[in-house]
Formats: sequence, structure tokens, C-alpha cells
Amino acid sequence: MEQWIIDNHDTAKELAESGLCDHCLGRMFGKIGTGMTNDIRGRMIREALEEEGISAPAEDFCPLCENVFEMLPRFAEAAAEAINGVESDNFLIGSRVEPEIAEREKGLKEKYNLESFESIKAELNREIGKLALPMIHRPVEFKTPQVVALVDTRFADVTLDIAPIFIAGRYNKYSREIPQTIWPCRECHGKGCPHCFGQGKMYMTSVQEIIGDIALEMADGQEHFFHGMGREDIDACMLGTGRPFVLEISQPRKRNINLDELERRANQGDKAAYNGLKFVQREAVERYKGAASDKVYHVHVNAEGKVNKEVLNNVALSFTDVSIDQRTPQRVEHRRADLIRKRKIHWCKAEWISDDSFDLELETDSGTYVKEFVSGDEGRSVPSFSERLGIQCKVETLDVLAIKYEEQ
Ligand SMILES: [Zn+2]
Ligand SMILES: [Zn+2]
Repeated sequence: MEQWIIDNHDTAKELAESGLCDHCLGRMFGKIGTGMTNDIRGRMIREALEEEGISAPAEDFCPLCENVFEMLPRFAEAAAEAINGVESDNFLIGSRVEPEIAEREKGLKEKYNLESFESIKAELNREIGKLALPMIHRPVEFKTPQVVALVDTRFADVTLDIAPIFIAGRYNKYSREIPQTIWPCRECHGKGCPHCFGQGKMYMTSVQEIIGDIALEMADGQEHFFHGMGREDIDACMLGTGRPFVLEISQPRKRNINLDELERRANQGDKAAYNGLKFVQREAVERYKGAASDKVYHVHVNAEGKVNKEVLNNVALSFTDVSIDQRTPQRVEHRRADLIRKRKIHWCKAEWISDDSFDLELETDSGTYVKEFVSGDEGRSVPSFSERLGIQCKVETLDVLAIKYEEQ
């Protein structure tokens, strides 16, 4: 008789006599003796007991697992069928066990103080996986599986959890009438009501939806999420090389979508354009959102007095590496904490257009309120362009020309 059976003799005898199936009996000592399945280990225990003249056969209906292991081929088939319906480089199978079974198992573990015990869930996962593997033709991945099939052992049905795909790129926004992301209706929060003409949103489309809806369809996914590296106001354009973003598609049944085709289709309209699409890892989302990049802006300004060309140019030049204090603007006061932020104007160039209008091009720190820098926001932004010019000015249009971000 093997030493480990001798060591656990009384417990093994008692458990065998309780009528457990071979799987369950073997699993109570599951971590002893590698290279052996639990049902083989269970049979070994019974044979060893028989040599002693103790007959302790398994009952027809296992009092612990209720014969769930007889269903393994069905579970494996259902899991394989579900996984084979989606594209992935790898997979993992998990299971959901009836709470009563888990409870009973826990009771046995505590009663007999079983130290080398393995859980039924672990055995089910492994045994279903073994049977399913030849039907799936993809490797098992434990750490970061692209698709997890969760088998509910009560009904043999399978829920898939598919890891999202992340597509990075840069976008241009040429319209002053669309937001960056979906803007749900504040009355109905998306359900559709008279206020939003049944659309559930305040704007017909957005930078997110133009590309997201196409990507969602191509990937046969569930939902799209848009992570921009900051955002511009609705009435601002995003020009130049564009703003970095990551598009996330949840539950994609196809993950190797053709990004050239996505780019081509997303670029058919005139409101927004996309470039440099590539697949990235989830980590990119935090990296993009956390990036504090300098920005270059172009603004068109109206002045409430006669602007002298030379004075204008001198004021613009005076904003070279100048720190400004910006108290939270009045227009965003209701949604952001009221505090003073220090920002820097790196450089500023002016172009005189008429007695009461001019253009500015300027580079600023990330997070600078440019409209308020120009207007002064009634003394909340100091120093301001209006203050130094001695004429109250207001930004009419604002465009972002560049976001200084180098991809690592
Ligand atoms: Zn059993
Ligand atoms: Zn509504």
C-alpha cells in the first residue's frame, strides 16, 4: 500500500464508506502524488481498502457532487462550441458550481482537516479544459486569456467573457458642432425623450461614434468606449496631427479586424478624421489619460476697442515663458473644484486682422484655460492677454493645432 494512503488511512476509509464517487474521494487528497487524476487516486484508495477486506463502493448518486463529473463531455462540448464561435489566440475555461455542493465540500474539508484537498471547481475547470482542448485548437492561457468560457454546471450553459480590444490612433475634429464623446441626454439619460427627440443624446454624432460604431460592427462587439488624451470643447476644432485616443471595444467576437479598412470607412465623412490606427494593450488607456502634453492653439479674437498692431505684437511677445494663475473658470465652476492652478504660456504670436479682431497662436501647458487666458475671466486668470493689451478681448473660435506627445 502506498505510504500516503497509510498516513491517511482512517480518513480515507471513512470518506470511501460515505459513498463518494472516485473523483470526489481522490480529490480530498488531490495534491498528493502528482501525475494522477483524482478518479484514479480515488480508485487506488478503494483497491487498497479492498485488500484489507473493507468494501466501500461508490454510491450510484455521489452525495457530494451529485455525479456532476458524468457531465464532463457535455460541458466540454458546450464550452468548445462557444469558444469556437469567437476569434482569439487563446482561451480559458472556468466553471460555476452549485453553492450547495461547494458548501458540502467545505464542510468535509473542515471536518477531516484535509490539507492536500483540491476544490471541485479546480478539478472541473481542469477536466473540462482537457476534454475541450482538442476541439478548440488554441492554447490555454491562465494569466491573460482573451476569452473565458464560464460553464454553469447546473444547466450546462456557457457564458463567454471576451477581453476587450484597444485601438489607438489620433483624430482630427473639423466640426464645431460635435462633441468628442457620446453626450447622453440629461433628461432621460439615454432612454429617449421629447427633449432629445427620442435620440437619447444631445448630439447626433461624436468623434467617438463615427469611428466607434464602425469598429463595433467590424468586431461584432457589445459597446465602445473612447479614451481621449484630454478633450476640446464642442465648438473647438482639432487640427494638425490630431489628438491621441484609445478606442475600446468590449466583448469583441472578432479581434483581428482590418484597421486600414476601419480607417478608410471612418474617414468617409467630413466632421472628423482618424489616422495612425494600431492595436495597443489596456495599459495605454491610463498612459494616454495621464499624459500632460503641451498644446498649441490657434484662436480668433474679437476686441472691444481699437487694437494697435505694434502693441498687439509686443503683448504677444511678452507672453514668453510666463506663469499665469488661473482660478477655476466661471463656465466650469459648477463641475470642478474652485482652486487656483498655475500654468505656463510658452510662447505667443499675434496676427493683426482688423481694428477689432486678431488671431493668436500660442503654446501652453496642458490644462490651460485658453479662452480665460485671453479674456481674463473677470480677474480670475492673471495675467491675461486683455489685461496687458488694455482692451477687453474675447475668443471667437478656438482650434487645437498640436498636442506635443511622443509615443514611448
Ligand atoms: Zn462525486
Ligand atoms: Zn432625452
